[in-house]
Order: sequence, then C-alpha cells, then structure tokens
Amino acid sequence: MNKVTARKLFDKRRLHAPFMWLVTGAGAAACLFSAYRLNVAAIDLEFMLLAFVTVTFGSRIGVQIPKVKAEITVSDTFVFLIMLLYGGEAAVLVAAADALCSSMRFAERWRTRFFNAAQLAISTLIAAWAILICVDSIKDVDTIIALGRPGNSHNLIIALFIMASVQYLANSGLAAARESLKRDQPFKIVWQKHFLWTSISYYAGASAAGIIVTLITHVGFYAFFVALPIIGIMYFTYRTYRKNIVEAEQHAIDQENISQKLMQSEQHFRNAFDHAAGMALISPLGHWLQVNSSLCQMLGYTEEQLLKMNFQEMTHPEELAEDLVHIYSVLEGKVKSDQREKRYLNKSGKEIWVLQSASLVANSQGEPLHMILQIQDITERKLAEAQVQRAAFHDALTGLPNRTLLSDRLSLALARAKRISSHQFAVLFLDLDRFKLVNDSLGHTLGDQLLVEVSRRVERCMRKMDTLARFGGDEFAMLVDSIAGPQDAIHIAERVLEAISKPFDLNGHEHFVSASIGIAFSQSGYQAPENILRDADTAMYRAKANGKARYEIFDAKMHAAAVEMMTLERELRRAVDRGEIEVYYQPVISLDNNRLESFEALARWRHPTRGLILPAQFIPIAEETGLIVPVGMQVLRAACRQLREWQTRNSEGNRLCVSVNLSSRQFAQTDLVEQIQHILEETSLKPGCLCLEVTESVIMEKAETATEMLLRLKDLGVRLSIDDFGTGYSSLSYLHRFPFDILKIDQSFVSRMCRDKDSKGIVETIVTLARNLNKQVVAEGVETAEQLAVLKSLGCDLGQGYLLSAPMPVEDVDRFISRSFDWVRDGGSLIDSVPQSEVDADAFSM
Ligand code: C2E
Ligand code: CA
Ligand code: CA
Repeated sequence: MNKVTARKLFDKRRLHAPFMWLVTGAGAAACLFSAYRLNVAAIDLEFMLLAFVTVTFGSRIGVQIPKVKAEITVSDTFVFLIMLLYGGEAAVLVAAADALCSSMRFAERWRTRFFNAAQLAISTLIAAWAILICVDSIKDVDTIIALGRPGNSHNLIIALFIMASVQYLANSGLAAARESLKRDQPFKIVWQKHFLWTSISYYAGASAAGIIVTLITHVGFYAFFVALPIIGIMYFTYRTYRKNIVEAEQHAIDQENISQKLMQSEQHFRNAFDHAAGMALISPLGHWLQVNSSLCQMLGYTEEQLLKMNFQEMTHPEELAEDLVHIYSVLEGKVKSDQREKRYLNKSGKEIWVLQSASLVANSQGEPLHMILQIQDITERKLAEAQVQRAAFHDALTGLPNRTLLSDRLSLALARAKRISSHQFAVLFLDLDRFKLVNDSLGHTLGDQLLVEVSRRVERCMRKMDTLARFGGDEFAMLVDSIAGPQDAIHIAERVLEAISKPFDLNGHEHFVSASIGIAFSQSGYQAPENILRDADTAMYRAKANGKARYEIFDAKMHAAAVEMMTLERELRRAVDRGEIEVYYQPVISLDNNRLESFEALARWRHPTRGLILPAQFIPIAEETGLIVPVGMQVLRAACRQLREWQTRNSEGNRLCVSVNLSSRQFAQTDLVEQIQHILEETSLKPGCLCLEVTESVIMEKAETATEMLLRLKDLGVRLSIDDFGTGYSSLSYLHRFPFDILKIDQSFVSRMCRDKDSKGIVETIVTLARNLNKQVVAEGVETAEQLAVLKSLGCDLGQGYLLSAPMPVEDVDRFISRSFDWVRDGGSLIDSVPQSEVDADAFSM
C-alpha cells in the first residue's frame, strides 16, 4: 500500500520532458562551445570529405552484433577518427550532425532528433575532455591529435580505450536515463537491459579508428581512401555473412515453431482420438488394429483384450449380416464411406447402440489397408426414442399394446392370410361386465388395479405369438394368430373367462368380475383391420345381450343385425323430428279394489314402412346415441298433456296419475328439473299426478349426484318410483336413503312366482319391506289370474300386466277409462278389455 502511494507520489515520467530539454540545451551549448573553440585553420578538404561521408553514409553502414542489440556503424569509427585527426571540437560537431541526420530516418519528432544529436554531442565532448585530462598525465602529448603521430602508439591505445569507454558510458547513461524516465522504470534495469551490450560497438569503432589513424600516419592520408573500399568490402562481407546467419537462425526458429505446432496438433489429435468418440482401425478381416480409450470404455474391454478380438464378435448377432454387407461395400470401394446405427454387445453382454462411420484407408495402388471406424455411443438417445415409441404404441396403465399397434399387427396378419390361404387367425374382443359400477364404487385407483390384474390374467391365457391390446376403459382386444381352426380361439376365450371368474383381491377384499367376449375369424375374408375388430365388437355385444360372462362368435346374422342397427339409428334421428314416436299407455290397477290408479307411458315408434316398433328395438339405440333425451321429453310432454285431458274429460279422472320412464342419460341432465317443471306448467298438470320411473342401475351409476337430483325432483312435487326392482343391485340397504314413493317388482319375479318358491319369497320380502318403509308396491307383468291371486294374498298394492291390460294407444284408453269406471261400478272383469294387437306385438321384441 505504502509502496503504491510512494510510486504515485514520485512518478518519474513527470521528469521526462524537463530532462529532454536539459540534455538538448546542454547539447546545444556543447555544439556552440565546440564551434567557438574549433580550430578553423585545421579544416581541410580531407576533413570535409570525412565529415560528409560520416553524415551521409556512416550511420547507414552498420552491422548488427550477434545476439546483442548493439550495432557497429561506420559513423562511430569516423567520429573517433575525426577526434584523433582533428580534435574533440570537430568530432563533437560531426557527431551531432551525424546523429541529427540519422535520427531523421527513425525518429518522427524533432524533440527526439535534437535530443539524439545533443546526447551524442555531450558524450563526444566528455570523451574528448576525458582523453585530455588523462593525456595530461601522459608525457610528451599535449593534444589528442598528437596521439596519432608515430611513436605514440602506446598512448594511442590508452586514449582509444578511454575514448570508447567514456563515450559509451556518457552516451548510454543519457539514453538509459531518458528511457527510465519515459517508462518510469529503474535506471539500472533499463541500462542493463538495453545498453550494456552496446559497449562492444564503441570498442570496435575505436579499434577500427586506431588502425586507420596508424595507417594514415605511416602511409599518408590517401592510404585511408585506399583502405576505405577494403573496409567497405569487409563490412559488406561481414554484413552478408551476418545476414545469412540471421536467416539461418530464423529458419531454425521457424522450423522449430512448425514442428512444435505439428506436435501440438498431433497431441490434439491424440486427445481427440482418446477422448472424443470411440475410434478404431480395423483390418479388412475385422481385427481391431488400434482402439482408443473411449471405445475400450464403451465396450468394457481393455485395449489388450480388444486387440485380440474382431469387431464381428461384438456386433449384435441380429445385425451382423447387414453390418458385413455394408462394411464389404466400403472395402470393395463400392461406396466411399458408410454410416449406420447398429448395436454392439459390451463385455457384460449389454446392448450398446452406436452410430458407426466406416471409411477405407487404401495404399497408393488403391488396395485396402485398413478401415477407420468412428463409433459414437447413442444408447441413451435410442432408449429415449424407444420410450417415446412405447408411449405412442402402448397403454400407459397396463403396458399392453394400444389400438394402433394391434391394428398394425392385424394388418400384417391380414396380409399373411391373403398370401397363404391356410393362414388363419381370430380376434377376441373382451369387455368387462358392469365395470363402470365396480370403478365407481371402488374408486379409480382400485379400478385401475383391477384392470392391470385382469390384463395379467388374460396375458397368461394367450400364446407367445398372440397380441393383447387395451383399447381404453375396460375394453381389450386380442389377436390370436396362426391358429389351426376356430377351436383354438374358442379354447383361449374359455380359458380367459375362467381366469377372470376367479376372485380378485383388491385392497384386502375379494371382488368378482366377469367379461363378455366376441370372437371374429379371419376366414370371412376381411380387407381391413377395422372390419374384423368391428365384427368382434358386435359379437361381444351379443354376448352381453345373451347374459354376459360368456363368449359369442360373430356370424353373418350378427352382421345383418349390426347393419340393421345402423339403419335404425339413422332412421331414428329422422323419426324424432317427424313425430313418429307415439305413446302407449298401460293401466296400473289397485289390487285392493280393482280400481284404475294410473297409466305407465311407454314409447312406440310408428315407422312409415316397418310399422310399429317396440322400445326394446330402439330404446337401446336411442340411449347409445343420446337421442333418448329428445325422445324421453316428447313422451313426457305427451303423457302429461294426455293425462290432463283425461282428467278434465272424466269427473272421476282427477285422481289418475301417469308414470314416465327416465333413462340414465336424461337423469344426468343438469336442467332436468327445470325441463320437467316447464312441462308441468305448460300442461297445467299437478306435479303429484306425475310419477317418474328410474331403474336401480341409473341411481347406482351416479350414486353421489343421484340423491341430490332425486331430492330436487321430490321438491317439485312429483312422485318417484324404482323400476325393475330386484334385478339390479337390490341392496335393500339404500332404499331408505333415496326418497321413493313406489317400488315396481320386476316382471321376472312375478312370472316365476307360481313355479319357483324363491321368486315368491323375494316378492313377499319386497312387499313386506315396502309396507314397513311406507311405500307402495306395483307388481309388473301380471299375466295370469293365478299370479294375480298370489299378489293379492301377499298384500301387493298395485298390479300392471297383460292380464289387466296391455299398453294401448290413446284412442283405446278413452274407452278403457270409461269402461274401467263402469267395471269398478259393475264388478266385471278387466281381462276381456286387453287389446289383442299389443299382445301380439310381443313378437316384435328381440
Ligand atoms: P318397463 O319400464 O319395465 O316397462 C314395462 C314393460 O313391460 C313394457 O314393455 C310393457 O309393454 C311390458 N309389459 C307390460 N305387461 C306385461 C306382461 O304382462 N307381460 C310381459 N311380458 N310384458 C309386459 P315395453 O313397452 O316394450 O317397454 C320396454 C322398456 O322400454 C320399458 O320397460 C322401459 O324400460 C323402456 N321404455 C319404454 N318407453 C320408454 C320411454 O319413453 N322412455 C324410456 N326411458 N324408456 C322407455
Ligand atoms: Ca317402467
Ligand atoms: Ca319395469
């Protein structure tokens, strides 16, 4: 810190300019003094000649002293010569003139030029005074000029030494002082670095001057002019010699630089070879000739181990044939180089994906010497690619192939079946029965767990060449390839059903599920994968319709039915718009007093060409397509309007009610309550006269939101009824949770009741339960007097069925109503009033 401040306080650079002026001034004084003291009488032609040569050529003819910055110039010699021949004053003036002229060439500023001249003038003057001071002590010599005379050679040598030394010290001292001030560097260091070696040029110049002076004094002045060309030749010879040496040295330096650069680039190459990608030289036969450390690392072998092996041994066996074809095409010169992605097996047998570039190294005759392989490890990239591929073609939950991949495999199987007539395969379409319910009641996590477990079990039933895919949800499809006949596929379907029928352990609880399977065979001559999948799907639906937990084989009839379904769907859309949906009404009778209580509104489709179509045929299609929403609303509106009309027309009709069925799709509509309210207002029907029938499954599918919806409906004032009670989940436990008014015992129990004790027991239980819960019970599908009698004996409130009346069109209902009121009054039989047409229409149902 102190040093720094001290340095800053004493910045020598500030002294540089004053020093320059001081020296220049002193130099000018030296010149003036010398000019004043100059012995003008001694000036002769020879002096003029000598001075001219010195100023014009002297400083230009110089020789660089090897390895030292100093240069011996002719002018040094001439200044000394003039000093010896004409005295110090003449030498000062010539030296100053020479310095000024020569510095015109290398110094740009006049300040520097004058300084140089002054510096030389001062140092020359000091040198001259030094000689005189010393010469005083040398006897017989009173002037410098006298030193050159014969017999004075001893003194001459001393004088030359003093002259050279003093001028050197003075000159270099001034120059070093200026340099040290200019750069703010210590004087000693500057002097040592730049001027120490220049002494040589002074001594050399002084020696040359001594020789010439001796020559002149012995031979005469003109000997100098004879000696001049000799000196010139010597100078130039030496100069050329020096130049050659310098050039040779420079050449040597250049060579060294080049070889150093070569070595460096070789080192770079070595490093690249060792550390970048794997690199190897292989012989035409495939032996590793040279390998780098990266390759050793990649393949897990040491260099020695690798060099004993060949590249074929470690190429993945599946790639070898193709790889050799490529390598040989390079070896044979068919292609210049080859780049391909391939797999190697490393020492531990692991697959290594690499990008390999192979190129040939041939001799001058074009014969292959060896191949250069550049091998880059791309395993990570390949794994990432494989992952992306997997995601694109596999189901994330089960890891099974997805629809895309299965379709792909199906296309291949179809193509093979076309080529080879004996090649047969089958597609199994599998759908879990009631999975939605399981999923909703267990939660999605356990639902997912179930799906995974199912897929594992199904996988265990298939063979290696088969493909099992998940299509989403609980839908699976299996390609059963290369079968001998249909029986093979049927066996697999049976095994799958059996495997799935075993209990599943989910969260410590046993769960039972079943599946429906549709099978389609390749023999039907399919063209596209979609077609065979579609038919297997159709067969699966048939399996569900036929009772679930079974398989069905697709046949032509099914295809026709599927086509029929599609036609119906198309026509149903039109039917809704054209008002082809009619409503039939089926009476519900009080079993207690035989009174007509209400009607159930049942949809019918009056098809322009097919005639009357029953709900079993079109309601499922309407459900699937969502058309059930407009259909249901049309029925609801018609029923409400109709009932209102009957109520107003018959004095006793005021207490009549109407039941309308609600599908799950309708039930899921958020504005259902508003829509119903609107219809009630529109038709001026009392809400209490409308009963909405909902099946158990509709409620259970949306158990969370169902209660809320039911309560909202209840608030509206309408009555609610559970339809088909006993067929669904029949958990009597939920009954009290939902605000129902009526239970409708499913017709299947009623129809079996008289033959089957269990069914009778169920009916009895439901009746008792309803009574306990304070709800009304309706028995559906009452067909025989026997059934009617049993129901009456059990205390069932209401009955509905063909025995009492089949559903009938509006025109018949009018008659029925008046007759029923009469009948009640007269105590007659209702059975006679069943319209025959509707009972026959049963033949319509599928
Ligand atoms: P459901 O609600 O159980 O309707 C009772 C069905 O039993 C009616 O069949 C009726 O004709 C039939 N039936 C009545 N008495 C007897 C009998 O003594 N013996 C036999 N074997 N059957 C009898 P339908 O009219 O064919 O309706 C079938 C199903 O279609 C209905 O079953 C109902 O679930 C649905 N459906 C009908 N109309 C509509 C509607 O407008 N909307 C909705 N969502 N579903 C409707
Ligand atoms: Ca119903
Ligand atoms: Ca029913």
